[in-house]
Amino acid sequence: MPSKQDYNNYLAKKTASLIRENFADRGVTNLLVVKTGRKWKRTLGHIKTLKTNEYGSEIEINPMLFDLDVPEYILDYVIMHELTHYFQGFASNHEKKHKHPHRGGIVEKELDRLGWKEIQEKSDVWIKENWDNLLKKNGVDATVRRKTRRKKLFGLW
Ligand SMILES: [Zn+2]
Repeated sequence: MPSKQDYNNYLAKKTASLIRENFADRGVTNLLVVKTGRKWKRTLGHIKTLKTNEYGSEIEINPMLFDLDVPEYILDYVIMHELTHYFQGFASNHEKKHKHPHRGGIVEKELDRLGWKEIQEKSDVWIKENWDNLLKKNGVDATVRRKTRRKKLFGLW
């Protein structure tokens, strides 16, 4: 079974190639860390500031996404979502052109523009249909706080 370090290496490699393939005209302008987070119930990944935006940014990915039942494009999609926040200046030192990280569908629009429309749609369907089963498989109780509407699967902070 792969270790946490193996997964972190995998994430670093994958993130670097996603940046090269999709954001080549931008730039990683502070320290950018990508690593395995925790088995959050309702968060696939998030990005946060490391000390200050000038200093660094940290993306954490829910390790349940490494499960072999999860198609690889889901992981790509989640990293791309967080990278979009990064390049839109949320929890990073890039210029911020919007006040709110999700309002107005700015992440979705940017992913569409980058050619990720199909993967985005496919991923949203897959997550909707399979997430609760994945929680079950991982021994995470999916029933708690079922009353809070699960509108947002991604958490920025
Ligand atoms: Zn987000």
